[in-house]
Amino acid sequence: MPTRGRTETTDHPPIYPVRAATKAKLKGEKWALYELVVRRFMATLAPAAEVRVQDAVFDINGERFLSHGESLLSEGWYRYYPYIKFRGKRIPELKEGQDVPVLGIDVKEDETKPPPRYTQASLLKEMERLGLGTKSTRHEIIQKLYDRKYITGKSIRPTKTAISLVQSLAEHAKNITEPEMTATLEKDMGKIAEGMRTFEDVVKESRDMLETVTKQIKKEKESIGGAISKASDEENTLGKCPECGKDIRIRKGKNGRFAGCSGYPNCKVVYPLPYSGKIEPTGRHCDVCGAPVIRIIHGREREERCINPACKTNEGRGVVGKCPLCGGDLVIRRSKRGKRFLGCSNYPACGNTYPLPQRGKLEFPGETCPACGAPIVIVITRGKRPWKFCVNPLCPGKEKKEKGSE
Ligand SMILES: [Zn+2]
Ligand SMILES: [Zn+2]
Ligand SMILES: [Zn+2]
Ligand SMILES: [Zn+2]
Repeated sequence: MPTRGRTETTDHPPIYPVRAATKAKLKGEKWALYELVVRRFMATLAPAAEVRVQDAVFDINGERFLSHGESLLSEGWYRYYPYIKFRGKRIPELKEGQDVPVLGIDVKEDETKPPPRYTQASLLKEMERLGLGTKSTRHEIIQKLYDRKYITGKSIRPTKTAISLVQSLAEHAKNITEPEMTATLEKDMGKIAEGMRTFEDVVKESRDMLETVTKQIKKEKESIGGAISKASDEENTLGKCPECGKDIRIRKGKNGRFAGCSGYPNCKVVYPLPYSGKIEPTGRHCDVCGAPVIRIIHGREREERCINPACKTNEGRGVVGKCPLCGGDLVIRRSKRGKRFLGCSNYPACGNTYPLPQRGKLEFPGETCPACGAPIVIVITRGKRPWKFCVNPLCPGKEKKEKGSE
């Protein structure tokens, strides 16, 4: 009999192994994932671990001190699931009323720490606790917050726009910023399913509630909208325009984002922006052309450069070698989805591209492959030996090597 969790979920079956695999057949991450699933499965079938818990209360001159001890009597499921280690600390056997010598007294000064920021996982838990959304919609709700740029990062931070949205709604339509309203609706839907309330009733009630809120918001439209667009402008500002001194802001166009002067249409300064990655202002401006210097963030990688692609400081940026097909420059580029690759600077006339590994730091020593003329790259990943190879996956030199090693 498998152990059961606190809540019963009926929406999908748990993941379980159906076949024994071998390490030789499933390599790297595949094996690690398979092992995780199998071990988890075994752990649910394993007996409970037995832990002896000891609590000791000491009395020193009338002050109470507590000590807590745990020791593992039988390891149970810990044996199958090494990802969770038993962390209990043993304390010595003590009898009631026993005298214990005080060896030293240490006064420590400390501060309480604020709770950590939410991660997606802890936010999902909190939503569950507050009754917000359902198991199938919670993920979507969080994704929507990311998509609309209300939250950012793995350790989730609200954006300026989000803060100003919540603040102005709290000022003008308080009830919709509180979890109760949504939670009540979810609960009522559950009651309909159980036959405790009627569909008509609940719909009428929530309609009335929403109508009141909508009226309120409509009445305050101007001030709510004004506050939000001011925050969003601040958030999207990258620096000052070198031509007219007004703000350069991130904007959305038909072909994706770009940066433009807020003095438009009087000032027509625009700069292209990379398709993917987070863009931040640095607060600095280029010494050469005066345009804002921006920071582009892709995961752990960050690059600072002048926003103006025509600027001298950007000449040769990202160029790692020559295209063996046309002699143009090979440049590190990013796809719309943020994947890095090498592309030819003569695109679209030359469509030559090479894939690049997505993880690790890349170094281009300036060497070209003797077999195909493509650049040689060195990938440096933490904890692994640097790996040097020709970027061309179809390189004739590679086939030979593989055959030779057989
Ligand atoms: Zn301008
Ligand atoms: Zn510049
Ligand atoms: Zn080319
Ligand atoms: Zn090659």
